[in-house]
Amino acid sequence: MPNIEPTTFPSYAPGFWPDTDSDHWQDYRWQLKNRVTSLKALEQHIDLSEEERAGVLLSGNKLAMAITPHFFNLIDKEDPNCPIRRQMIPRIEETLTDPAEMSDPCGEDSHMPVPGLVHRYPDRVLFLVTDRCAAYCRYCTRSRVVSGVSDQKLETQWEAAFEYLEKNEGIRDVLISGGDALLFSDNRLERIISRLHAIPHIQFIRIGTRIPVFLPQRITDDLCKMLKKYHPLFISIHVNHPRELTSEVRDALGRLADAGIPMGNQSVLLQGVNDSVEIQKELVHKLLMCRVRPYYLYQCDLIEGSAHLRTSISKGIEVIEGLRGHTTGYAIPQYVIDGPGGGGKIPINPDYVVKNDEAGVTLRNYEGKQFHYPNPSQLPASLKG
Ligand SMILES: *Cc1c(COP(=O)(O)O)cnc(C)c1O
Repeated sequence: MPNIEPTTFPSYAPGFWPDTDSDHWQDYRWQLKNRVTSLKALEQHIDLSEEERAGVLLSGNKLAMAITPHFFNLIDKEDPNCPIRRQMIPRIEETLTDPAEMSDPCGEDSHMPVPGLVHRYPDRVLFLVTDRCAAYCRYCTRSRVVSGVSDQKLETQWEAAFEYLEKNEGIRDVLISGGDALLFSDNRLERIISRLHAIPHIQFIRIGTRIPVFLPQRITDDLCKMLKKYHPLFISIHVNHPRELTSEVRDALGRLADAGIPMGNQSVLLQGVNDSVEIQKELVHKLLMCRVRPYYLYQCDLIEGSAHLRTSISKGIEVIEGLRGHTTGYAIPQYVIDGPGGGGKIPINPDYVVKNDEAGVTLRNYEGKQFHYPNPSQLPASLKG
């Protein structure tokens, strides 16, 4: 039997902000106001590599840099390959574009019946309600509009979007995303959710957010009290590395879970961040302990300047193979590729079928042992209807 190392949810606060009192620290407005957004502020805290320094100087017209103090504290100063740094601090490689890369890798702009509303699947829509996040992921699939520094702007047509949803009775599921909707005030967010909730054919609302991870202070009791009025409401969070699950994040997720909100995690497979079975296993175990069910593991989209963060597809298959059978079924996300150019999410799985013919299938299990499952035998002709 393997020994189980105790799983910890440490706090890294106050870290780089030793003089901040706890009232300020716990105030999400203070966290937002004190985000690290400049080279100068970064260099006050950590020594940058040449690649990072050039990245910060040259990437600013593509996707802004912003890191909340809470999240910044997760950076390991001594480790140039720190998984938090790779997600948050631009690198010079971002300015290089591979021929296969695109500014809109999931073909969202061509699937918008109304600006801000992506309608790809018949029964559900993606509603982009803001272009701002608490912090910016360098591999952002929506960097063409997110953070407000590029030429293209997200111009959500609110009234037209609501009317489209009201008229299209085939839409039963609305995914609120952006940007990050939890940056809105409780009142503003409630106006959006309550209007959706009032549409009779909308059965289900969900919010995609990284706020519980970047800014756990925003998950206030008031916010939870408001959200729980609109059940069934689900939340998808975005955690990539076990280090992101601190005690503050676990407590924030606990408040959401206590409000009856089922939660899933969507992580992105990233080179040098979480591209190993060992890290993924620790991540999914910690997620279950926070009452979050791993939902999707995304192959990194072909966003411009992401080659240094992308892995091969075989790496993702290896990760899933290393989880299936080896750990709790609830802990295993579905590995997907968002079809480049607009195919939607396509599942990728390790192949457990060794042989498939008329007699049946030969399967292998997680240990590599083979098993045969025969097809139902043919009925004698005399018994056929
Ligand atoms: C991801 C996504 C959805 C939701 O997909 P699920 O598989 O139901 O989680 C809906 N619309 C768009 C455009 C998406 O990208």
